[in-house]
Amino acid sequence: MVSATNTTTLVKPVIFDLCGGHPVLDFVNSLDNRFNSRGRIEGLRGYDDLLRFARQTQLLESARIAQLERTVTPAAGKRALRAARAVREALAATLYAVVGGRAPPADDLQTLERFFHAADRHRELRWLQGGGERPALVWSWRRDEGGAELPVHALALAARDLFASPEIGRVRTCEAETCRWLFLDTSKSHTRRWCKMKVCGNRMKARRYQTRHSD
Ligand SMILES: [Zn+2]
Repeated sequence: MVSATNTTTLVKPVIFDLCGGHPVLDFVNSLDNRFNSRGRIEGLRGYDDLLRFARQTQLLESARIAQLERTVTPAAGKRALRAARAVREALAATLYAVVGGRAPPADDLQTLERFFHAADRHRELRWLQGGGERPALVWSWRRDEGGAELPVHALALAARDLFASPEIGRVRTCEAETCRWLFLDTSKSHTRRWCKMKVCGNRMKARRYQTRHSD
């Protein structure tokens, strides 16, 4: 769950909980209480939260993040934040459908396609040599790439890689109904049931205990 403390005088920076085990899943989890009628908790409240997420998940090199911190204007940051939330919600709709064995909504797939294509336009093919390593062709961000939406593009590419990887078959939702966070089940037996055993696992066990002993 997102650790956020709001008071009227102080808003603490969000520290993202990365128990999902994959940047794309942790990104979807940045909207906490997604299915809870008591209210959602938004982890991406500002553009700086998006940069913090990119730094914490090592989605982008820290030099690029530092450059974005210095150069992105408030208006461009706002637009990028809107784009980030849009791609997150399309990812959420798609991933929860996939995990549940249902067809993802067509609108959300179109949104994802749009973000995938947009991300590619910011990549370039480069011949890298020097630095003591074997020269090689690399497909990476353009050298002069400094647009506010770079974290969004990086998330889109990470999502595309996840969809094409066998890991997609290991994406699960936390079984606590009030949580339902996404995570990558990397356990040997593939039987992980909770985003965090200590939080959701214990809470569900306690509830079952109460139900059994309530009469
Ligand atoms: Zn959970």
